[in-house]
Amino acid sequence: MGTFAERMSGVSVSATLKVAAEAERLRRAGHSVVDFSAGEPDFPTPEHVKSAGKAAIDANFTRYTAAAGVLELREAICARYKAQYGVDITPAEVLMTVGGKQALFNTALALINPGDEVVTHAPYWPTIPEQVKLVGGVPVIVQTGSEDGFAVKAEAIIAAMTPKTKAVILNSPANPTGALIDEPTVIAITEECARRGVWLIVDLCYEQLIYETVPHNLPKVLFDRHRDKTVLAGSASKSYAMTGWRCGWTIAPKELTSVFNIIQGQTTSNITSITQKAALAAVAGPQTAVDEMLTEYRTRRDNIHAWLTAHPAIKCVKPKGAFYLFPDISGLLAPGTTSTDFAQGLLEKEHVVVTPGEAFDAPGYLRISYATSMEQLREGATRILRYAESLQPAKAGTR
Ligand code: PMP
Repeated sequence: MGTFAERMSGVSVSATLKVAAEAERLRRAGHSVVDFSAGEPDFPTPEHVKSAGKAAIDANFTRYTAAAGVLELREAICARYKAQYGVDITPAEVLMTVGGKQALFNTALALINPGDEVVTHAPYWPTIPEQVKLVGGVPVIVQTGSEDGFAVKAEAIIAAMTPKTKAVILNSPANPTGALIDEPTVIAITEECARRGVWLIVDLCYEQLIYETVPHNLPKVLFDRHRDKTVLAGSASKSYAMTGWRCGWTIAPKELTSVFNIIQGQTTSNITSITQKAALAAVAGPQTAVDEMLTEYRTRRDNIHAWLTAHPAIKCVKPKGAFYLFPDISGLLAPGTTSTDFAQGLLEKEHVVVTPGEAFDAPGYLRISYATSMEQLREGATRILRYAESLQPAKAGTR
């Protein structure tokens, strides 16, 4: 390890990428693979967004822009948050990033010193703690459980704080559980962060993918109480089916945004100019595609949830957001076996790709992405149930 920087020693490889590589191997061998591992929409980018990207190329909008992104786009983000959440944001508080990933990484670089603690909740999207580790911080993990729908509890987050806590990171709707953090919880956490002077970072990448009409105005909750130490991380990836375009943003105090500007100015500079024009069409244009995708995801969620929970040993909270199902399959595991073994067996015997819970600090669970067609969902559910039966013929139906 002597050759590489020490900061790399504690950072893990993405488990989802490993699963994807395995699936690719089976596909190449000619098997019909059902892939439930995707962390991205299966829909194409909406037509008007693609057209805006093409028009940008034709108009030679292909040069550097301001590192923070063009003003017009940052204004459009401000207008969207005003319309959606009733909050007033100025373009000086917005910076365009290479996806939500860079939004969060800029934040980690700008705020976290080696040894600083960062409290977050599990099951988590692995990038969150891994980025904290990359900058020398210490992730402090608060577990949540399926028995109460993976509810994040304010008391638990607050109890995990110490004088070394620099920031709290919340993700709602959450990957991999699809859980939402409710407003009273966020209010209590925000008030404690304000009392302690701790930064509150909220990953809102799935903010447009909420299936229930529950109050979830986290920007307003935070801005009313803790605006000077709040960072919102947003993304066009999931909302507008734009994962490959690489577009996200931070909304943060002006002073912190200036620091992000320095980081980005010395590393990646602006996000792709063409992407910025496409993102402008996405954010400022008609939102019908967003609604249509949401409706389709909701139907898929209802179906795959019903199909899988027909098995008495598969327990699954119905997710309120994002596009993942996170069933508890511990009832199917033979003594001494893990959800990783289950996922491996499912892949080898039935050619269904799922991500084992271990990837999200949640052994005993599987993550099933329903960002795929209804036919694939039906076929995959059939195969999963068949595999479950093959493991437990005696027990099926008796639990
Ligand atoms: N946050 C969460 C919780 C995610 O699941 C993802 C994508 N998997 C992101 C942020 C970032 O996505 P992107 O960089 O494409 O915006």
